[in-house]
Amino acid sequence: MKIRTARAVGAAALVAVLATSGCTGLPGVGETPVTFEAGADGIGDPYFPTYGNGGYDVLSYGLKLRYDPAGDQLGGTATITATATANLSRFNLDLVGLTVSEVTVDGTTARHAREGDELVITPESGLHRDSRFVVEVDYSGTPVTVRSPDLGEGGFINTDDGAIALGQPESASTWFPVNDHPLDKATYDIEITVPEGLSALSNGVPGGTSTADGWTTWKWAERAPMASYLTTLVIGDYRVNSGTHAGKPIVTAVAAELPTTYADAAMARTGEIADYLATLFGPYPFDSYGGIVVAESRIGYALETQSRPVYGPSFFRRDTGEWVVAHELAHQWFGDSVSIHHWRDIWLNEGFASYAEWLWEEHDGGRSAQANFADEYAQTDWSQPTGDPGRSGIFSRAVYKRGALTVHALRRTVGDDAFFRLLKTWTAEKRDGNATTAEFVAVAERVTGKSLRPFFDDWLYGTTAPPLP
Ligand SMILES: [Zn+2]
Repeated sequence: MKIRTARAVGAAALVAVLATSGCTGLPGVGETPVTFEAGADGIGDPYFPTYGNGGYDVLSYGLKLRYDPAGDQLGGTATITATATANLSRFNLDLVGLTVSEVTVDGTTARHAREGDELVITPESGLHRDSRFVVEVDYSGTPVTVRSPDLGEGGFINTDDGAIALGQPESASTWFPVNDHPLDKATYDIEITVPEGLSALSNGVPGGTSTADGWTTWKWAERAPMASYLTTLVIGDYRVNSGTHAGKPIVTAVAAELPTTYADAAMARTGEIADYLATLFGPYPFDSYGGIVVAESRIGYALETQSRPVYGPSFFRRDTGEWVVAHELAHQWFGDSVSIHHWRDIWLNEGFASYAEWLWEEHDGGRSAQANFADEYAQTDWSQPTGDPGRSGIFSRAVYKRGALTVHALRRTVGDDAFFRLLKTWTAEKRDGNATTAEFVAVAERVTGKSLRPFFDDWLYGTTAPPLP
């Protein structure tokens, strides 16, 4: 779901990428003929041309799924409510693997075909621009794991005791049909049925559990718009802690096989760390809090899955690793609430989340942000750009660490008052939406009253060390 300023830009982009082949609907009396066209197989991201799709904007996903870990079998129904942004003869969803048995559009059976990772749906009659439509997809099968050169394994991973669905920049399409790009954010209702005795954790507010015939259904609802890669599903044997924090539900979970030491201690500080970040970034943007620590060694990373980040086990082996909690919780503002427009903007997520590690360390009695900045500045390879880092560079040190350097250099340049006013203005104005680097530069100039384009050119794109501010 795209709202506020992002809507106009996003809708224009979606229309622009429509394919040109189409058919013409028969006009009624007094009507002009409507030309229906096929929606594009990509949303228009230059790094990932087939991610997402053109011609519509999803409002909500309703997933009712069952997973049997013993046979690694997932099945159920996805109900997708969307608005057409063009007159559509057909449209695509992204789906990797799995077998589709039936598709309906507005209750009527629709034709469906698979073309690689695309599910192509042709409704019985064309969909009119600006009309709302409901797609239901019944599907099942053994979900696939995807291998990322940067993160390792992701997608849907069958584990010893259950499963983990996780990954960036793609993962959602391995467990449900989806418009798989951050530009099309939507709300989610997720129901997952698993063998009784296992936990099934996901994003958002918990809706309780019910058990029948040896199966337990867990319900979750994320009512703030969420980018598809921020969805997660974690099934298995977990120590689950549920309560409230600042008047909202908080659910943390640690894999039962992990020792009850560092991971549990880190999760116990989730609320405190979120509260500290809220003093810097503005009000916490979601209806629930949490975190999940998995034991699966193939998850060698952490990911800012919305309202409930997932952490691999390695972060908590030797200590309580609060720096990574600060990083993933900072993403709740930078990345999750304010999402990137295209993947080339990813420093807007990682630069701020990496900088939050330094802010937390200083707040928690460790080294100052300035000391971390000085060390990192001295060892940075300035030949690698932070902005528009290339498809293979989205998880590069330049995006994360040079991104954090850029944020701290901005703070030094404009002063603390203007800097923190800028962060709160940015997260408020772009809340629940999408944003670009150019938009950040514009807001920074407006809030600080300074001409900052040369600053950002040097720090984000320059190939030599910028002068120290
Ligand atoms: Zn991050």
